[in-house]
Amino acid sequence: MKESNKIKTCIVCEKEKKEGLYLYTAFICHECEREMVETEPESPKYAEFVKKLSKIRKPPVFS
Ligand SMILES: [Zn+2]
Repeated sequence: MKESNKIKTCIVCEKEKKEGLYLYTAFICHECEREMVETEPESPKYAEFVKKLSKIRKPPVFS
């Protein structure tokens, strides 16, 4: 009875995965997380990741 076995949808590849991490309200699978880390910021793929991540609603910042 593990909570972590719940299926979640990755916002990057839009596939259903059991394991990954939460970034604010979004879920990112381990595969995409690793790919993002390995992708060069100059690469067009990186811009694609950024575009997907920009959809995430960030919590309000109190300053
Ligand atoms: Zn993914």
